[in-house]
Amino acid sequence: MLPISVTKATVLKDKPQDESKLGFGKIFTDHMFLMDYEEGRGWHDARIVPYGNFSFDPATTVFHYGQAIFEGTKCYRRADGGLQLFRPQENFARMSRSAKRMAMPELDEETALEGLKQLIAIEQDWVPHQPGTSLYIRPTMIATDVMLGVHAAKHYLFYIILDPVGSYYKNGLAPVGIYVEDEYVRAVRGGTGFTKCAGNYAASILAGAIAEEKGYSQVLWLDGVEQKYVEEVGAMNMMFVYGGNRIVTPALNGSILPGITRQSVITLARQLGYEVEETRLAIADIFADAKAGKLTEAFGTGTAAVISPVGELCMKDEKLTIGDGKIGPVAQKLYDTLTGIQYGRLPDENNWIMRLS
Ligand SMILES: *Cc1c(COP(=O)(O)O)cnc(C)c1O
Repeated sequence: MLPISVTKATVLKDKPQDESKLGFGKIFTDHMFLMDYEEGRGWHDARIVPYGNFSFDPATTVFHYGQAIFEGTKCYRRADGGLQLFRPQENFARMSRSAKRMAMPELDEETALEGLKQLIAIEQDWVPHQPGTSLYIRPTMIATDVMLGVHAAKHYLFYIILDPVGSYYKNGLAPVGIYVEDEYVRAVRGGTGFTKCAGNYAASILAGAIAEEKGYSQVLWLDGVEQKYVEEVGAMNMMFVYGGNRIVTPALNGSILPGITRQSVITLARQLGYEVEETRLAIADIFADAKAGKLTEAFGTGTAAVISPVGELCMKDEKLTIGDGKIGPVAQKLYDTLTGIQYGRLPDENNWIMRLS
């Protein structure tokens, strides 16, 4: 593990007073963690420094060829005031897998985790207190060579910034409406779908904007070849409940992002006695099964919302209400169980929690 130097900010920002107005992705703390990579030398200069702008040459490769990957995880405050992380090692391991696909260097995961812990120790007062709030953690890696040539870069910057975020649900779990995208695709076999690379999101923004114009909050992506099979939603994996006790979710096929929430929900669901099946799901079957009353719930899983119930799907001009359009009992049970573990209200039988204080 690399030594980590610390330079403290001399002037601190005012912390947000009203935690009900935190929102997402707008406020950043006083410090950030950085480390550099150079081919032949490896990761070096791990450091915590005051939060601030970067200065890059206009020819820096990340701006042109998009070698950029990121992660998202959270730090939670328990009722006793202590802080904890949820499976952060999984995020750094996934980042290394993303890096490999993008011809970027695998992360020094040990230093990244230690850097995160030290950064949070410095920023602990930024972790909000209200129920449902948390400190969002955004690790990022970018290519920093100054050169216009399409090659794997020789220099990279890894950094972590922190963002206090509000409760995703102010009035209980509100179901969302989702638009099934049948023109554009997000990822194809052999592509980068399984990575959290910036380009995946750039390619998804147009479809998201069109869905929003139609009154839907997100897009459900179908497979990139036949556009028949369910893949996932913008930043969430999808699960469907049959007969109240069987959960079906698309199998990881290389074009779906392997969500840590997805994997945790599968484990918890099995422990709670639900049957879970990872398979290939045709969108036509989803519509038919919901109309026949066999499919009773649909929900997304992801770090931001944890569980996001889907009340309506729309494909072309056909609107489908799922269940009674409200949150179902399976989604609610899984949400209560997983958030209970994350906030330290329930025992952590799977050893997912890393206590910081
Ligand atoms: C981040 C992400 C998810 C959810 O992953 P978690 O690890 O559960 O947060 C799902 N799909 C996409 C495309 C994502 O970017």
